[in-house]
Parts: sequence; structure tokens; C-alpha cells
Amino acid sequence: MTVSAQPKTSHYINGQYVDDTSGEEFKTLYPATSETVATIHAATPAIVDQAIASAKVAQKAWAATPNVERGRILIKAAEIVRRRNDEIARIETLDTGKAIQETLVVDANSAADNLEYFGQVAATLINEQIPIDGNCFAYTLREPLGVVAGIGAWNYPIQVASWKAAPSLALGNALVFKPSEMTPLSALILAECLTEAGLPDGVFNVIQGMGPVGAQMTTHKDVDKVTLTGSIPTGAKVMASAAESLKHVTLELGGKSPLIIFDDADLDNAVSGAILANFYSTGQVCSNGTRVFVQNGIREAFTSRLVERTKAIKLGDPLAPDTQMGPMISKRQFDIVNNYIDKGKEEGATLLTGGGSPSLQGFEQGHYIEPTIFDNVTDDMTIAREEIFGPVLSLFNFDNEASVIERANDTEFGLAAGVFTKDIAKGHRVIAQLQAGTTWINNFNLTPVGVPFGGFKMSGIGRENSRHALDYYSQVKSVYVEMGGVDAPY
Ligand code: NDP
Repeated sequence: MTVSAQPKTSHYINGQYVDDTSGEEFKTLYPATSETVATIHAATPAIVDQAIASAKVAQKAWAATPNVERGRILIKAAEIVRRRNDEIARIETLDTGKAIQETLVVDANSAADNLEYFGQVAATLINEQIPIDGNCFAYTLREPLGVVAGIGAWNYPIQVASWKAAPSLALGNALVFKPSEMTPLSALILAECLTEAGLPDGVFNVIQGMGPVGAQMTTHKDVDKVTLTGSIPTGAKVMASAAESLKHVTLELGGKSPLIIFDDADLDNAVSGAILANFYSTGQVCSNGTRVFVQNGIREAFTSRLVERTKAIKLGDPLAPDTQMGPMISKRQFDIVNNYIDKGKEEGATLLTGGGSPSLQGFEQGHYIEPTIFDNVTDDMTIAREEIFGPVLSLFNFDNEASVIERANDTEFGLAAGVFTKDIAKGHRVIAQLQAGTTWINNFNLTPVGVPFGGFKMSGIGRENSRHALDYYSQVKSVYVEMGGVDAPY
């Protein structure tokens, strides 16, 4: 079976597929077999300039388009994305290696939800009127920022592109998006869907390339805002270069999130929560609850049930409908995760299951790692402190509520956190003390579009999803209106 998904050309600018074959060539590989899915050219500086120039020209008319009309186009694009769901799922599976049973229900769906939500929000945008006194009042205008540069990570390619596109476009900005070089394809499909829905040419553009292309976007004089999903080191670089011209910045970065299981938790739900928090997308999820703190009374039952269910996870051909877990995205990520597994063993954690690579006939060149659970992990171990970004779950023991909260917060990250307990007061009390931007009580890793998503501490700046995202893709103008005389002291 062919795994080729070669797009017409590498970039999508001003409503058209374009290329500059003098740009550095790179290949996107199917992580299950290392076969070539597509050959792409990185954007040359001329392509970057061309994309940003088209966005700049198109943005003005787009901002002047009535909100309801902007919203209607986004809602239409959502319908087209849903119609192309199976095609998008296959492309995401080929690019990322994630199991098709995930990509069929999550990736395009999340993108469509976002386009639909912000399309609806566009139609409901209102400004404030602020009474002052007697003969004057003020009002506010929410205005777009202008040209937004979006830069994406590789784990949820079309979702990341849409989470940036939908609020930007709803508010009248234009976007130039650079996907990760490992997953260049689905953003091009999103561009096609937006064009088909009636989005004017130039409002959404896709350019390809590695870090240097992203870096050029973050310093470009005609870019007003940079929004990145990626790692903390890249986030710091992006923020530093955007600071030279004081561009607005949204950063969705990494995590090392705690999941706290109290003795009184529903056992099966808590085990399901821990699995969702660690093994979905082969563990390549920024908000994963990789530090699982288990209270001593439930520890034995929880651990044996968790190990039993983890051992039953089916690894295999990502395109087969019954495969539950695919390979790591790349050899590089495979090596990073294996190094952490080695460190866990060396530093004295107890390997309960996994830790190796399965032998799967026909997939010998795939970057597979078994879902892995370490027990007796202590807070100072490397696997307890650093983001692994792979299917590696660490179990910690605890007795006491106050101390587990302190340990959960003892990290530079603050993206997510979760608590399992049947005591609702305890659930709220503990969540209130956890330093994280996105939290769950009795579930994990669900991110409906109406709920804000983002990090505290070094996990990020700004919020995606929900009406809170509007604040990060617009600026507020206040207008003071005098209807009486002007009383000057001189
Ligand atoms: P990276 O930080 O390596 O890359 C993110 C993007 O930034 C890529 O498109 C990359 O290009 C680009 N880039 C790299 N260097 C620069 C630069 N100097 N200036 C501008 N852009 C640059 O992250 P990964 O792709 O490896 O993704 C994994 C990370 O993303 C993890 O830390 C994960 O936690 C985080 N993440 C966060 C999420 C969130 O919402 N909080 C969601 C998903 C992932 P290229 O790779 O093509 O070279």
C-alpha cells in the first residue's frame, strides 16, 4: 500500500499552491516504516516575504468584512473539514504515526470545532459602552492585531493550525502558518478548506520549513504577533526575538503535569484517567499527566489494574483500525524517550511494564516504544523532572494531602493537573492549590473548545480556545466621547 501523500507544491500563499524549488529539500517520513510520504521545499526568504506581504494586503479588507460574514466563512470551513475527515485522518496518521482510530475522531474534529466555535463567536462580538458622567461617555473597539505568524508543533498538526487560525481570523487578522517540518501536510488541506469556504486569498497562508524559517517570521517587520506551540527552549527564543520589535506573543509550551489519585477515587475511572493522561498519541501530548501520585491506601489495587490494562494496549500498523498505539514520530524522539527510560532504570525506579521496543513484522523500521510504567519514582529523578514526550508514566506514592500538593507544584512547568476523588470538596480544594492553567477533576486531557487552554509558569503565555483567546488576537481601543464643552485650565 502506498503511503505517498505528496501535495501539489510545498506552500500555499494568496489562495494558491506555490513553490520555490531552490528552498532546502526535506522529506516527511511515515514513522511506522520510515517510507517517504512527501518531499517538501523549505521556504526561502523570498517565500516568507511573499506570504507575509499577501497576508498584509489581504488583512485590511478582511478586517473590514462584517463579523457575521467572517463567521459564516469559518463555519463553512468547519463543515468542509468534517466532510474531509477521513482524508485528513489518513494524512495525520502518515505524518505523525498516530493510530488511525485516534486521528479519525480527534484531529480534524478538533479543528472543525474550533472553526465553528470562533465562527459563531465572530457573529456575537460586541463592544463596551462605559458611562462616565453628565455629558460624556466612552466605548471600546476590539480591533485585530494585523498579521499573525503561527508556528506549530508536530503532535496535533491540523489542530494546532486551527487553534491559531480560528480566533485570529474571526477577529479580522491574517495568518501565516508554519507547521513543524515533520508534519507539513494537513495545514495545506486546512488552507484548501478555508479557500473553498470563501476565505479571501491571502488571509490564511502556509509556508514550510525548519527553525530558521520560524525565526525569520518572528523578526519580520510586518508581523504583529507570533503564536507558537512548541518546547520551552523554542518558546524562549521566539519570545526573545519577538521582543526586539515588541510583537505580541502567545506561547503554548511543554509540561510535566501531576495527576493525583486519592484513596477514595473510583478505581476504574482513575486508571482510565491515568491511561488517557499518558498513552494517547503515543504519549506525545503536552498536557500529559506524567507524574501520577497515588495515595497509599489505593496504591496496590490501582497499580495492578493500571499495569494490566497498559499491557493490553495494542501496538501495530497505525492505519489498521484495531491498532491502539503507533510509533514515536521520529528516530530522534525515539532516542530521546529511550534515553529517559535508561535514566529511569539507572536512577533506581522500578520498571513495572514496557521499556522496550516491540517486534512488529513489516514495521522493523518504525520507531515503536512499548507503553512504559515506572514505580517508586522519587521527586528528584530525571524522569520526574523533565518532559519526556513519550509513553512513559511515573508512579509516586503519598500519604498526605498537603505534602502531595507541594510536591505536585515543585516544577518549573504549569500546563495541566488532575485530581481523582469522590470527595467533591477535596477535589475543588486541591485543584485550587495546584499551579496549572488547565485542570481536571475526575478526568484528564479533555479539551473542549469552549474551555480555556494554556499554561502557568514556564508552560506558556496566553490562552487558546474559549472567549479568553479573543484577548490574545486583538487589541482594545478606548474612545472617550465628549458631548459638552471643553474646560481647559489655561
Ligand atoms: P519545537 O519547539 O522543537 O518546535 C516547535 C516549532 O517551532 C516547530 O515548527 C519548529 O520548527 C519551530 N522552531 C524551532 N526553532 C525555532 C526558532 N528559533 N524560531 C521560531 N520557530 C522555531 O517543538 P516540537 O515540534 O518538538 O514539539 C514538542 C514540544 O511542543 C513539546 O515540548 C510539547 O510539550 C510542546 N507542545 C505544547 C503544546 C501546548 O499546547 N502547550 C501542544 C503540543 C506540543 P521545526 O521543528 O520544523 O524545525
